[in-house]
Amino acid sequence: MKLFLDWSAYKDAGMGDAYADIPKTGGDYAKAVAVCINSRACEQAGKGVMCPSFRISGNSRLSTGGRIKLLKEALNAELDSSPFENGALAEAMDLCVSCKGCKRECENEVDMALIKAEFLAQRFSTTGIPLRNRLFAAIPKLLVKFPRLGRLIKWRNRHRILARCADRLLGISANVKLPEPAERSFNAANVQDKLKNDTDRPEVVLFVDTFNRHFNPAVAEAAVSVLAAAGYQVHLLAEDEHADAARQPLCCGRTYFANGMINQARQEAHRLLQALAPHLEADRWIIGLEPSCILSLRDEYLAMGLGEQAKRLAAKVLLLEEFIAKEQSAKRWTLTFSTLGKQKLLIHGHCHQKAVGATKAMRKALKLIPELDSQQIESSCCGMAGQFGLESEHAGFSRQMAEQGLYPALRAEPDAAVVANGFSCQQQILNGGYARPLHIAEILYAALDPDGRQRR
Ligand code: SF4
Ligand code: SF4
Repeated sequence: MKLFLDWSAYKDAGMGDAYADIPKTGGDYAKAVAVCINSRACEQAGKGVMCPSFRISGNSRLSTGGRIKLLKEALNAELDSSPFENGALAEAMDLCVSCKGCKRECENEVDMALIKAEFLAQRFSTTGIPLRNRLFAAIPKLLVKFPRLGRLIKWRNRHRILARCADRLLGISANVKLPEPAERSFNAANVQDKLKNDTDRPEVVLFVDTFNRHFNPAVAEAAVSVLAAAGYQVHLLAEDEHADAARQPLCCGRTYFANGMINQARQEAHRLLQALAPHLEADRWIIGLEPSCILSLRDEYLAMGLGEQAKRLAAKVLLLEEFIAKEQSAKRWTLTFSTLGKQKLLIHGHCHQKAVGATKAMRKALKLIPELDSQQIESSCCGMAGQFGLESEHAGFSRQMAEQGLYPALRAEPDAAVVANGFSCQQQILNGGYARPLHIAEILYAALDPDGRQRR
């Protein structure tokens, strides 16, 4: 079997263990599947993230271990169809939201999100890629190629008849709102005064991802202001030098990866790595804003066969809050913030932030703001999970996931402000009828004193 991802990290997993139960086909991929020891801890109710699809269904086939069991049967050719085309397996994988809860919480660190990416790539290589997957995967390109797409999305959100058409033709649920692009995308010219060359300052690079670029440009602008006020020289990536034939802005490739289009994701990764090369050479920290994009540079990139440069990047890329927390620990962060008044703030962590323990950094950075009473929401996946919560057959499951923790916590504190850095989490909160949550960059920017906002 030709694998799409590099599974060599598992090449020694279970070797020499007569009970490892490694499937007969699938090579190192089969070894990654076989790390599950069938303890069924993923079927326990409790704190943490794992496993949202089991929690809402109580169906053991929809737990991490249940999926592993079906995958083993498929790779041992025990099912009545070719490995990746079996209906029961496809259904079980379909409801995995790739939250990475199992990677952190399962005692054997089963990485179902990565296993699912290979599964989708294998499945689509024989069935073809469905139109809806192609569309969601291509969103970064479509937003640039069709500048009126934003207007079309707004019409669709406001006119039920259009929403019903999209539901019937594309499988996009008429019962949820789609994220609406901002009137203007992020433009480096708007923060030019904060980017001046000053060799005395420590240099950092801000990677503006597709979601913040097109949907929340104010978040990226706020991040530049905060970093500049804190005394860093901020570099933005030299887009023009690395634009592809269609003049596409740089993108991590996350939307392709999540839709099983690994080769296209790899192309985007190569472009980004090329643009980052001089900055890695200069040993600068690369800072990002969207958890699913930035953490994929530390995780999925290492499984895409991208070589040494991907390893160098993984060691130098941080979320904004991780960078601030790191600088605080090293006593290099001297910027102070003003109070926002006595304010309760609920923190909703993106699943991938929770999977790498990055919500601690959120709490630490937010403590820089005097009088802010922040409290973390105890929840599993919010249920949006990229495009999952927008899909007709998944919108109901998605809402059930939100009702497991996130929505009740928001209802219990109607006057609290909410911080949620994940783009899809923000949309899930909006779709539940709650106010737009803020990104931590926006909160820190709001707490900059007037001098800090001007400081360069
Ligand atoms: S996936 Fe992890 S928690 Fe679930 S049965 Fe396997 S080893 Fe146990
Ligand atoms: S990635 Fe999340 S939804 Fe998928 S199996 Fe793991 S815990 Fe369950």
